[in-house]
Amino acid sequence: MKLSIFGTGYVGLVTGACFADVGHEVLCIDVDAGRIAMLKEGRVPIFEPGLREMVVRNAEAGRLKFSTDAPAGVRFADLIFIAVGTPPQHNGSADLSHVLAVAETIGEHIDGYKIVVGKSTVPVGTADRVEAVIAAALARRGATHGFDVCSNPEFLKEGSAIEDFTKPARIIIGSEKEAVRKKLQECYAPYNRNHDKLISMDVRSAELTKYAANAMLATKISFMNEMANIAERLGADIEEVRQGIGSDPRIGYQFIYPGCGYGGSCFPKDVRALAHTAEEAGFRAELMEAVERVNNVQKGVLFRKLEQAFDGDLKGRTIALWGLAFKPNTDDMRDAPSRTLMEALWEAGASVRAFDPEAMTEARRHYGERLDLSLASGHLDAAAGADALVICTEWKQFRVVDFAWLKANLKSPVIIDGRNLYDPEDVRRHGLLYYAVGRGDSV
Ligand code: NAD
Repeated sequence: MKLSIFGTGYVGLVTGACFADVGHEVLCIDVDAGRIAMLKEGRVPIFEPGLREMVVRNAEAGRLKFSTDAPAGVRFADLIFIAVGTPPQHNGSADLSHVLAVAETIGEHIDGYKIVVGKSTVPVGTADRVEAVIAAALARRGATHGFDVCSNPEFLKEGSAIEDFTKPARIIIGSEKEAVRKKLQECYAPYNRNHDKLISMDVRSAELTKYAANAMLATKISFMNEMANIAERLGADIEEVRQGIGSDPRIGYQFIYPGCGYGGSCFPKDVRALAHTAEEAGFRAELMEAVERVNNVQKGVLFRKLEQAFDGDLKGRTIALWGLAFKPNTDDMRDAPSRTLMEALWEAGASVRAFDPEAMTEARRHYGERLDLSLASGHLDAAAGADALVICTEWKQFRVVDFAWLKANLKSPVIIDGRNLYDPEDVRRHGLLYYAVGRGDSV
C-alpha cells in the first residue's frame, strides 16, 4: 500500500519506518526542512533504539522517502496519517494548529478519495474539526472529492517505540465506516498476525481512549508518589509496600514505581488537556487536577532533599546529575524532572555537572552554553569531586556502582536517588548518606 505520513517526530518516523519495513511504500512529510535533509542523508534526528538502522534499510530499498513537499504528500497515497505534534497551550488545552494545518493542505490538494488517519493525540471532536477544514477547503476549490477521517491513536513508548509498534497490545480504529476499518486492517495486517489486536469503535471513543490510557498511567505514578511521601514520613519503606500491593493481581507490579515525578512529551500535556476538555464540557476533572498537582510537587522532591541535606546552603556547590532524559533509552528531555531540578539548583546558586548516555545534545539544545552547567564524558567523571550525586533517570549503567569509589571521590558523601536504584543498607554501609524516595528516611 502507499502511505503518506505527516510529521517525522517520534511517532511519525517510527510509524513510517515500521510500515515501510513490511513492504508498504511510505512518503514522510515534515515542515522542518533541516530534519528532512538529515533523514535524506540517512541521519536520524532523534534517538530511538533500532530506528536508525530501520530508516536506513528502508530508505535504501526505496520504500521510505522524505520530503517537505506537502501537496505531493497528499497526492501520493490514499491513506494519509497525521502524526504532527499537539503541544500544550498556556491554558492546558492541546494546540491543534499543526493538525489543522495538515487538514487544510489535504483539502487544498486532494485529488481523489482519501482516508485521513489521525495518529496525533487530540481532544475528542478533533476528527470532526479535521473533516470540516478539509470540506471547507474542498468547497473553496469547488471540488467534490470524497474522503473519510478516522482516529487511530498511537500507544508506542519512547525508548521501546519500534518494539511497541511492531508488537502492539492493541490497534484502535475509530470509525463508523466498515470500508475504512477494512483498509486500516489491511494496512496493519503484517503487525496483526499473532491474534487480532484490532479494536474498532466510534471516532470520539477512540480519541478519548488515548487520553484515558495516559491519564490512568499518570494516575498510577502520582498515586505511588503520594504513597511514597506518606511512607517517608511514617518510617515505612515504599519499596516493600510496592511489592506488597503489586502481588494483588487486581493491582499488578507494572507501572507502580515511585520516583521524582513523570515527565516527557505526553503524560503532563495529556493529563492537562483532558482536564481542559472536561471543563469545556462542563465537568471538573478533579482527579486529573490532583494527579497533576501531585506530580508538580514530586518534581521538586530532589531539590528539597538536597536543600535539607545541605541545611539550605547550596550556593557555590557542584551537584553531579546522572540522567537528563525523562526516562531511559530516549534522548527526550521535554518536561523531564532533571530540568526542574537543574533550574532550581541554578536559582539557588549551585552548578550542575551532568551525564546522560543519550541526552547530552538535547541538554545543549535546551540550555546552550552556560557556566553553571557542564556535561561530563561519563557518569563517574560527573561524580568525581562533586558535592553530592543525584540520580534522575534509571539508565541501566547507573544500576551497579562502586560505592567505595563514590565515598572516596564525592566531596560530601551525599546521594539523592530519585529512582530508588540501590539497597539503602548497602549504600549506607559504605559511609554514604543516602536519600531515596519513600524509603523511611526523613530527608
Ligand atoms: P514530535 O514533536 O517529535 O514531532 C512532530 C513533528 O511534526 C515535527 O517534526 C514537526 O516539524 C512536524 N510538523 C509540525 N507541523 C507539521 C505540518 N504541518 N506538516 C508536517 N509536519 C509537521 O512529536 P511526537 O512526539 O512524534 O508526537 C506526535 C503526536 O503523537 C502528538 O500528538 C503526541 O501527543 C502523540 N504521541 C506521542 C508519543 C510519544 O511517545 N512521543 C506517543 C504516542 C502519541
